[in-house]
Amino acid sequence: MATPLRKLAALPVSELNRVGPKAVESLGALEITSVLDLLTHYPRRWHDRTRQASIRELRVGEEAVVVATVRKASARRARNGRSIAELTVFDGTSYLTCTFFNQAWRVKQLPVGTEAIFFGKVDVYRGRRQMTNPLVDRVGDQTGRIIPIYPQSEKAEVSSRDLSVWIAEALRRAGELVDPLPDRWRDRLNLQDRTWAMHQIHLPDSIDAKDAARRRLAFDELFRLQAMLVMRKRAVERESKGIRHVVGPSPEGAPALLDHFVTGLPFALTGAQRKAIDEICADLAGPHPMHRLLQGDVGAGKTLVAVAALLVAVQGGHQGALMAPTEVLAEQHHLSVRDVLAGLEIPDPGTLMGGRPLRIELLTNRTPASARVKILDALRAGHVDILVGTHALLVEHVEFSSLGVVVIDEQHRFGVEQRAALRGKGEDPDVLVMTATPIPRTAAMTVYGDLDLTTLDELPPGRTPVKTVWSRGPIEEQGAWTRVREEVEAGHQAYVVCPLVEESEKIQARSATDEFERLGAAELAGLRLGLLHGQMPGREKEEVMGAFRRGELQVLVATTVIEVGVDVPNATVMVIEDAERFGIAQLHQLRGRVGRGAAVSWCFLLGSGSTPEAEARLEAMEQSTDGFYLAEVDLELRGEGTILGTRQKGRNDLKLASLRRDKDLVSDARDVATQLVAADPALAGHPDLADEIRLLIDDEEAEFLFKS
Ligand code: ADP
Ligand code: MG
Repeated sequence: MATPLRKLAALPVSELNRVGPKAVESLGALEITSVLDLLTHYPRRWHDRTRQASIRELRVGEEAVVVATVRKASARRARNGRSIAELTVFDGTSYLTCTFFNQAWRVKQLPVGTEAIFFGKVDVYRGRRQMTNPLVDRVGDQTGRIIPIYPQSEKAEVSSRDLSVWIAEALRRAGELVDPLPDRWRDRLNLQDRTWAMHQIHLPDSIDAKDAARRRLAFDELFRLQAMLVMRKRAVERESKGIRHVVGPSPEGAPALLDHFVTGLPFALTGAQRKAIDEICADLAGPHPMHRLLQGDVGAGKTLVAVAALLVAVQGGHQGALMAPTEVLAEQHHLSVRDVLAGLEIPDPGTLMGGRPLRIELLTNRTPASARVKILDALRAGHVDILVGTHALLVEHVEFSSLGVVVIDEQHRFGVEQRAALRGKGEDPDVLVMTATPIPRTAAMTVYGDLDLTTLDELPPGRTPVKTVWSRGPIEEQGAWTRVREEVEAGHQAYVVCPLVEESEKIQARSATDEFERLGAAELAGLRLGLLHGQMPGREKEEVMGAFRRGELQVLVATTVIEVGVDVPNATVMVIEDAERFGIAQLHQLRGRVGRGAAVSWCFLLGSGSTPEAEARLEAMEQSTDGFYLAEVDLELRGEGTILGTRQKGRNDLKLASLRRDKDLVSDARDVATQLVAADPALAGHPDLADEIRLLIDDEEAEFLFKS
């Protein structure tokens, strides 16, 4: 009988013969408690003994790996009190000194005669080659050609050799593993046998074998996750009835609100927008609630598409909700939605003219109590058509009369639970999730795998790419301010974005105020400057924005409040101060405020690039204005952890798979999962797969997913 993973997950490591109480504790520090944890504690790298450097050939300045035996070990104390441990190691070709500062315990860890692997940079001290504070891994009596090196083994004082010994026993105990992937798929995708892969990842016969093993096990991780997501999507569809929205003209023949809106726009929709609206309308008209992700580059016109979805709800007598992650963004959304819907009326037989203007309200924690009561009453009575807000919309006493469509502008901040809470505000309303900037397809498939995907892959015509310059020093900075002055002289306008202060909006507001005063007296003296930050009262903000829109202000000094919704085509230059503090997505979003007209636009990024990663971000911004490309770079730089965040159950299960490197595997896993679940929704014929999905989720969700 092959062993299911569930059984290994239930088997504590203490059951292994060679794992004593002390080892249990050390493994616990690595978050390894079960035999499955141990088996999926994969090597961080593999050392190929046949290709290791010999000490004789080491060159100063290079990074190297050597396997050598300790010949001398001593510790002493330097005059400044630091301890210095010094080892002399020998590999048959020559000697090398390894010096450790403040690691006196190394002498005990590596007594004379120990064989170990040393990683480090070769330097010279008093004419002798040495490594300073190299990474060390004990090899002991391992004989294989390729030695696995496990992560974090030093910190927990567990050596790779210990782990190898325990894992070898775990592999013996596990025996043959259950394989939930049907044979025909294994053949078609050219994947190895699972049991073989589990052995080869830990004790590879060759580097090729290790690679093939990794591919198979990474596939398994993605496959489980995709199967879970596809099932979640299906379960939601099965469970919920949803509203069949009316998308065309009313039964009485009145033209739909949506058509009114579209024909009233001062421009034609892009092809991508039309296609997106069609997809959304088809979902809305259908019997099941929509669960769709809308993504597109900055400036692609997502707001219009979202508004179209809200209007479909309103024209059928329902209400729409738009939820943003911060108050400032909610306020901006409120302004822009009111803006684009100004003048639109909905039929109302109770009035003299047979119609009334749409009512759009804003609800955040800042809404004064008296206004809040009025809004909530009107909402309950169905007089509010569209409610914009933050997660304040999620609290209990917010009651809609009939919530039809929910748009969530999410910026990676809302969790699955919060989305569910909002859905609960209506009878299965349709849900559209919007991301401010694109995320790579494989990431979308994983993070938003339970949603359908619509991509706006086209910008409205007439946009000119923004010329972006990273101003690395004071001289270049002067160039940026000069450009601002030139653009203003030419009749254009400018933004100055103040440094991001993560800790507090208040401090950020204060430093923006200081910068506003400083610039007005220095680099930008004589220009008409305005100040905008999130702590200003709403009225004041609107006044400043109005003055900037009308061209009365030439330069807007602002915090990140301008990130969304600010739209002044005459603004042709943006200076972002301390740009290295911002992430790529945010820089791209900010830069999207310029380049909205036909004139050539500029974006200056000030800052020195304090880390290699910051440097890479700023360089990427200089090189490209394509949000989809930048999203890939971002994923590359930050790794999947940040994208997956806390929302993703099963995120811990992605130990080998990389959303960056394993794009094809992600798609393959998605395809297989989709086909299997379509043919067998409760996975009755795939009990092993069902079993492994259960390991990723809690009982409550399992009951929901596997109910047939
Ligand atoms: P996003 O939210 O995708 O970044 P917005 O919805 O804010 O983009 O739209 C950016 C700007 O483009 C707005 O000024 C909007 O009025 C304008 N816009 C949207 N769609 C079109 C279109 N089809 N043609 C011309 N301009 C458009
Ligand atoms: Mg927008």
